[in-house]
Amino acid sequence: MTTRHLLLATSNPHKVEELREILAPSGVHLRALSDLPGAANWPEPIEDADTFEANAQIKALYYANRSGMVCLADDSGLAVDALDGAPGVHSARYANVGGDRAARDEANNAKLLEALRDVPDAQRTARFVCAMCLAGPSETGDIKVLAHTRGAFEGLIVHTPRGSNGFGYDPVLELNDPNDTCCGMTSAELTSAQKHERSHRGKTARAMIPALGAMV
Ligand code: IMP
Repeated sequence: MTTRHLLLATSNPHKVEELREILAPSGVHLRALSDLPGAANWPEPIEDADTFEANAQIKALYYANRSGMVCLADDSGLAVDALDGAPGVHSARYANVGGDRAARDEANNAKLLEALRDVPDAQRTARFVCAMCLAGPSETGDIKVLAHTRGAFEGLIVHTPRGSNGFGYDPVLELNDPNDTCCGMTSAELTSAQKHERSHRGKTARAMIPALGAMV
């Protein structure tokens, strides 16, 4: 049986780590951009669409065209109801500061908590959203979209960040489903297995597994 190779079309090391864990049962050999010789020098595509789906498609098609491989792209972010869905597709650069990923995450969380300072608990509902796009060579050899999936992870925005696992906005989204044994914990207080079981990325990537099974 031939090994099926899939390129994870993201430069975010946290997403690569999570996707490797979530997709381990798929039997597909996952490669990161950092595993491909020369790919580190490819300019990143411009993600200028206003939906997660469209941005995931931009990334999947771009990297599939550059590499000739089947590529899986993830576009994700936080949608806060009291902010009309912001930061949404602008989640990664919400605070618009420089520095490394950790510094940007900290500034994004500080800006979000300040924007919600006077918002009462009942109105602090929010969710992580993830859209994935699979793109790669078709039977005729041209690159096309093979599948789209989407998932969400519901919660409430806390007043003070808690937890040190995960990345991004994980310390500020608290699980609020009373039927969940992890209710009251932030996403950054979950183990990686607990997060993947519930998360937007876990749901979206698992929904992609049938399409991965069909890829050539
Ligand atoms: P993207 O790379 O343009 O998709 O940006 C995604 C951004 O959304 C990240 O930089 C984080 O700020 C946020 N985000 C996406 N997924 C998660 C997650 O699982 N936990 C916390 N923040 C996330």
